[in-house]
Amino acid sequence: MSTMPDNAEFMEDLLNRQPADPLRAALVAIQELHECVEALMNPGRHERLVKVCTGCGTDDGNWQRWPCPTRKLADEGLGEE
Ligand SMILES: [Zn+2]
Repeated sequence: MSTMPDNAEFMEDLLNRQPADPLRAALVAIQELHECVEALMNPGRHERLVKVCTGCGTDDGNWQRWPCPTRKLADEGLGEE
């Protein structure tokens, strides 16, 4: 009895393991880069916790509020709100 996989079956199995949609896989990867994290804004009397993006910052060196524009686009591309 052979332990070698049937070649056609092997190839089909391999193909089935590929992401069905490379674009979708890329968008999911972008979402993972642009996760939210809670940050303390204005420490002191007016402090508050806000969600900021782990993947972005603003031009002036501050946190980018989450969801950031990049994350919003990825969400839209995946049909998620
Ligand atoms: Zn971001």
